[in-house]
Amino acid sequence: METFDYIIIGAGSAGCVLANRLSENPSLNILLIEAGGSDKHPYIQAPAGFLKTFDNLRFNWCYQTKEGEGVGGRKIFFPRGKVLGGSSSISGHLYVRGQSMDFDHWAELGNQGWSYKEVLPYFIKSEDRSTGKDVYHGVRGPQHVSDVLERHPLCELFVQGAQDLGVRVNPDYNGESQEGVSYYQRTILNGRRHSAATAFLDPIRNRANLRIITGALVERLTFEGKQVKGVVFQKNQRTEEVRAGKEILLSAGSINSPKLLQLSGVGNAEFLRNLGIEVIHDLKGVGEGFQDHYAIRVANRVKGLQTLNERGRGISLIWEILKWFATGKGLLAFSPASVGAFIRSTPELSRPDLQFVFTPASYSETEGAVGELNPFPGMTCGVWQMRPESRGHVRICSKDPKENPEIQPNYLTEEVDRQAVVSGLKWCRKFLQTKALEPYTAEETLPGGAVQSDDEILDYAARKGATVYHPVSSCRMGTDPEAVVDQELKVKGLQGLRVVDASVMPSMVSANTNAATLMIAEKAADLILGKSLEPAEL
Ligand SMILES: Cc1cc2nc3c(=O)[nH]c(=O)nc-3n(C[C@H](O)[C@H](O)[C@H](O)COP(=O)(O)OP(=O)(O)OC[C@H]3O[C@@H](n4cnc5c(N)ncnc54)[C@H](O)[C@@H]3O)c2cc1C
Repeated sequence: METFDYIIIGAGSAGCVLANRLSENPSLNILLIEAGGSDKHPYIQAPAGFLKTFDNLRFNWCYQTKEGEGVGGRKIFFPRGKVLGGSSSISGHLYVRGQSMDFDHWAELGNQGWSYKEVLPYFIKSEDRSTGKDVYHGVRGPQHVSDVLERHPLCELFVQGAQDLGVRVNPDYNGESQEGVSYYQRTILNGRRHSAATAFLDPIRNRANLRIITGALVERLTFEGKQVKGVVFQKNQRTEEVRAGKEILLSAGSINSPKLLQLSGVGNAEFLRNLGIEVIHDLKGVGEGFQDHYAIRVANRVKGLQTLNERGRGISLIWEILKWFATGKGLLAFSPASVGAFIRSTPELSRPDLQFVFTPASYSETEGAVGELNPFPGMTCGVWQMRPESRGHVRICSKDPKENPEIQPNYLTEEVDRQAVVSGLKWCRKFLQTKALEPYTAEETLPGGAVQSDDEILDYAARKGATVYHPVSSCRMGTDPEAVVDQELKVKGLQGLRVVDASVMPSMVSANTNAATLMIAEKAADLILGKSLEPAEL
């Protein structure tokens, strides 16, 4: 049986960072195991290819949530990346870190070392910002972060209209303050997706001390007492086991990290015994406390201006494809959103709670998923509450590693979440009905004029909302008995095992979750290697 110093399970956002940072030390022997395959495909490389990977089993686990009480008993399509780069290879590219208070809150919960001043150096470490270095941004990291190059006229009008509503233009929502209307910063380099695999893995793939195995489904961990020893995985219909001399790092993401712990006998003892799983360690919080962002959208038919819808069809599309291959520019270099805003749903709040995404395109209605581009010009404004209070769970349904777990986000089950979604939809309408955009608006296509009262809006939100793909907190870091990992991301009560991915977030960040996941993995690498960066001086 082969032995490695560190075995990393999952080559997603976090796993790629860990593989890079740990293998910097040539005396360490690292294994990275990934269930998916290669990320070298135009659908992944072209930013607009998002629409093609979104529900594509070749790159995607394509889960579904369990029926939810707050969403009219619906199951909701739930994509996660299954490919090198993980979800960062199928993501919408937005680089949003969150608010300083998100991380200060983590520290207040008892997680020492995770305050904003302490994590900012790790955001900076991973970043290569196209606009240069400053107190908040770095230029020497592997992860390229660039600005939107093609400013579509409707995006410019969105920004202008937002200002008319009293929302200030914020040139850097990842800087001193998040609040305002801004063009998004994106993980794109020269018009091509810059995933965690492109940024952290490609440059170091040939290191002699790093082995990467793809197409390998990890089934469980093995233990001797409370000490984790190895990993059992399936590749090409063969079951294999490898051993770790130092540690196993679970980076399988917010769905699969709790799933693998449960399959390995780590979780709620009674629940595991009922499934016939031998209990290694009774840890009630595994899979519990799960959170996600739930988004709804307003779409308008556009008149008098060309939108992306027309550019995405027929001869125009062929031209756009050729242009992108030759120059990295044009339609295919668009991410699902170019511009957005962070605002407070009510003025009494101390900080923004709503995030908006605007795109000069509109999509057909499909059950909880992004559909095809509409055959007519359109624009869309989406919104979600950034710090939802509804919490759910991820629980395995059997001891079969191939069976999908039960994902229950419990969207809209808390009153505060319902109120925010109603306020959010009203704001979407305000943003789309400004003096600047009004001349180009033909009619509202979603939800449509019939939806007016708060009850009607809530009903629309329950019927048509969807995940915006940010699951966190299913292996929560904390000091309370339900927490799964401690502040060094070590699984409580066990030796030699850490969880390093989005699942350890103690609570949702006010942001899309990739940037914070990269930061967590950067900091974890230092914790593992016994190093640390000085807190930022602000
Ligand atoms: C469609 C979509 C759009 C998104 N858009 C954005 C965005 O615009 N901006 C943003 O900030 N965030 C976005 N996100 C969220 C962001 O991508 C994630 O928060 C982040 O990638 C999570 O990183 P992770 O390391 O926790 O998990 P992942 O990146 O999901 O990595 C987990 C990896 O583990 C592998 N794995 C799982 N189980 C096993 C197993 N049993 N054996 C072997 N390997 C396994 C998976 O295949 C995967 O590669 C998006 C996500 C999706 C799905």
